[in-house]
Amino acid sequence: MKNHKRIAVVGAGLGGLSVAGFLQRAGFDVTVYEQAPSFSRIGAGIILSANVMKALRRLGVERALVETGIKPHCYISRAWDTGETMYEIIFDAASEERFGGPYLNIHRGDLHGVLEQVVTPGTIAFNHRLIDLKETSHSMRLVFENGVEAEADIVIGADGIRSKVREFLLGSEAPRFVGAVAHRAIFATERLRGFKIPDCTKWWGPDRHILPYFMTSKRDEIYIIGVVPAVTWESDAASLPASREELLASFAGFHQDLRRVLEVAEDVSVWPIYDRERDDRWSGGRIVLLGDACHPMRPYMAAGGAMAVEDSAILSRCLTTFDEPGEAFRCYQATRIPRVADVQRISIENSWMRGPTETDWFYRYDPCTAPLTPPQ
Ligand SMILES: Cc1cc2nc3c(=O)[nH]c(=O)nc-3n(C[C@H](O)[C@H](O)[C@H](O)COP(=O)(O)OP(=O)(O)OC[C@H]3O[C@@H](n4cnc5c(N)ncnc54)[C@H](O)[C@@H]3O)c2cc1C
Repeated sequence: MKNHKRIAVVGAGLGGLSVAGFLQRAGFDVTVYEQAPSFSRIGAGIILSANVMKALRRLGVERALVETGIKPHCYISRAWDTGETMYEIIFDAASEERFGGPYLNIHRGDLHGVLEQVVTPGTIAFNHRLIDLKETSHSMRLVFENGVEAEADIVIGADGIRSKVREFLLGSEAPRFVGAVAHRAIFATERLRGFKIPDCTKWWGPDRHILPYFMTSKRDEIYIIGVVPAVTWESDAASLPASREELLASFAGFHQDLRRVLEVAEDVSVWPIYDRERDDRWSGGRIVLLGDACHPMRPYMAAGGAMAVEDSAILSRCLTTFDEPGEAFRCYQATRIPRVADVQRISIENSWMRGPTETDWFYRYDPCTAPLTPPQ
C-alpha cells in the first residue's frame, strides 16, 4: 500500500525511530529530524519488557536485540537491610510463552545501534534542531536551526521531555524536578573478583532504591541505577560526574550483598529526575506528540521507553486506519491515555514489583494487535 502523506518525525529517540519504522512499513513518506550530529553512546542501561519486544519484533529487530543484550533469568526485589526477598519473577521459556516475548536488559548505545536499522537508509536527518513550526492552509512548515526548512502533512513530536513540538502546541512549561536524582555507574564484572550477583535485583530502601543489572549475555558489564532524594538540582547539565564514595554514602547501611557491588563501581554520574503532571492534550491540528514529549514519567517502573514504543505502534495503526489526521489522533489518545495514566500513577507510587504484583496486564499487552478505542 502506498500512502502519500508526508510525515515529519521530530526526534530520533526510541519513540521517533519506532514510529518512523512502523509508518514506513505502512507506506507513508517519513523523514526523522534529529538535533544531534550522530548517535552517542550514553552510559546507561535500559529494561525492555515483553510488551515492547513484541512491537520491536514487528520492526524486525528482536533477534538482533536479544543477541546484543541479555535475557535475565530473574528480577528480584530485596529489602535494603535484611536482604529478604520481597518479590521474584523468573524469566524462562514458560514466562516468554505467557507474555508473548522476552524480557531484555541492554546498553542504551547498543539499543540505538540496532534501532537505526528499523528505518530505511537516509530517513534520519541529523544536525536538524527544530526551532519553529508554522501552520499553512494545507500543511506544516518546519524550521531548523541550520537554516533548512521542510514541509509535511503531519508533524509527530517525539522530541523528549523538553519537546519543542509540545511547546508549539501547549506553550512553554519547564518540566518538574521530582526531588530525586539517579546515580548511574557502569563497570566490568571482573571487578567483583568472582562475587556472584543475580541478573537483575532491585534493592528497596525506605526513601531510595537501587538496581544493579547485567547488560550483555556474557554478563561482563554491570549497570547500576540508584535513586535518592535531593532537594534541588542547580545545574543546567543533563548529568554531572560523581564518585564511588558518594554512591556508597547514599546507600550507607544497605545489605552487604549490595555494598560489595558498590565498592567496586566505576564511571559514576548523577542525573536529575524530571516528569510532568499528567496532561491529556497530546495533539492539535496536524501535530501529535508521543513518548516523553507528552507523558514523561519517573523511571521507577522502567517503563517510559516502553510507553514511547507502544505509542508509536498505536499511532501508526490509527494513521493507517483513519485518513483524517484529527480522527486518527482522537483514536490514538482514546486508546493510549488510560494505559499510560496507569503507568504514570504506578511510577509515582514506585510500587511495581515491590511485593506480589499482577504483571499480566502490562507484559502480555501487544500494541500491534490490542483493540483500538474508537475516536471520541
Ligand atoms: C534514569 C532513567 C532510567 C530509565 N530507565 C528506563 C528503563 O529501564 N526502561 C524504559 O522503558 N524506560 C526507561 N527510562 C525512560 C526512557 O528513557 C524514556 O521514557 C525514553 O527515552 C523516551 O523516549 P522518547 O523517544 O520519547 O524520547 P527521547 O529518548 O528523549 O528522544 C528524544 C529525541 O529527540 C531529540 N530532540 C529533542 N529536541 C529536539 C529538537 N528541537 N529538534 C530535533 N530533535 C530534538 C533528542 O536529541 C532525542 O534524540 C528511564 C529514564 C531515566 C531518566
